Amino acid sequence: MNRVYNFSAGPAMLPQAVLEQAQAEMLDWNGSGMSVMEMSHRGKEYMSIAAKAEADLRTLLGVPDNYKVLFLQGGASSQFAAIPMNLLRSRTAADYINTGAWSKKAIEEAGRYCTVGIAGSSEASKFTTVPAQAELTLNTNAAYLHYTPNETIGGVEFPYVPESGDVPLVADMSSTILSRPIDVSRYGLIYAGAQKNIGPAGLTIVIVRDDLLGETLCDTPTMFDYKVAADNESMYNTPSTYAWYIAGLVFQWLKDLGGLAGMAEINQRKAGKLYAAIDGSDFYSNPVDVACRSWMNVPFILANADLDKTFLAEAKAQGLTTLAGHRSVGGMRASIYNAMPEAGVESLVEFMADFEKRHG
Ligand SMILES: *Cc1c(COP(=O)(O)O)cnc(C)c1O
Repeated sequence: MNRVYNFSAGPAMLPQAVLEQAQAEMLDWNGSGMSVMEMSHRGKEYMSIAAKAEADLRTLLGVPDNYKVLFLQGGASSQFAAIPMNLLRSRTAADYINTGAWSKKAIEEAGRYCTVGIAGSSEASKFTTVPAQAELTLNTNAAYLHYTPNETIGGVEFPYVPESGDVPLVADMSSTILSRPIDVSRYGLIYAGAQKNIGPAGLTIVIVRDDLLGETLCDTPTMFDYKVAADNESMYNTPSTYAWYIAGLVFQWLKDLGGLAGMAEINQRKAGKLYAAIDGSDFYSNPVDVACRSWMNVPFILANADLDKTFLAEAKAQGLTTLAGHRSVGGMRASIYNAMPEAGVESLVEFMADFEKRHG
């Protein structure tokens, strides 16, 4: 067996310990005589798996009791519609901060349901920074304020949590959730597709304050209604059972590692090493404002784009894979989520220095 360091933006690496445990439990979970994939979601065994995953996630993030944790399907992209459907609550406008490709998708979808106010945008800088709190124009009648704490494609993150007063704050945390501690009570709703920092694709997590539930737009499909999901413990229909189970193993792995404070320390160190390597060379560069650089997604370009293909091929030969930048921006991008070992980042940094020496 030869595992590579996979720098994919998502689906991304999972901790090896998690994969090994899943492998060990594949044919017979805990004496049940079956795989988790084959279990009834309403059976006692699976209910215990689901409940433990939720309890561990609540512990990790310190989710207050007045928040529901939902295990849904449809990806973060479905939430782009579900959020206005659930949170408009007879208001007609919502505010969005535009900091890149994922913000734009959320804005476009919300525009089908309400008047979208752009509370701030960093488009003029080509999304290499985020607007400061003082630059935000907030509508006090907005149903909510939506932002993307970490833009996965641009590699830009907010160094602060926007202050939205009485307007509920909504965050697309798909590529940053569980990378560090957060104060959940600052948010009305947090959502994330699982395939970056949680587990396999097919699971989407929504954490929502319970006073925001129960007043959906009249055409909201039952499956998009958070209250229906909450009232049925995310089992109104068959949930993404196996992905939920793997997410539970990831939560346990994080707890064993010292929780999110421990994870944050490791993540900060990993990102620090990679940015230091980029900044310390004349051959590699990253355009993002230093204060807004992502810990999770590190885009960089080579001084000579003609070398991109060679870089990718040589990296791959050394077991460093999926380093091509998003098709919309080109260059390189190293996604270094929680499950990327520090040794993987060190190996990339070494390779980059060696590549520069030979081709720079
Ligand atoms: C990946 C990603 C999405 C899309 O997630 P899907 O689960 O594929 O719908 C949305 N927002 C952000 C910030 C992402 O990184």
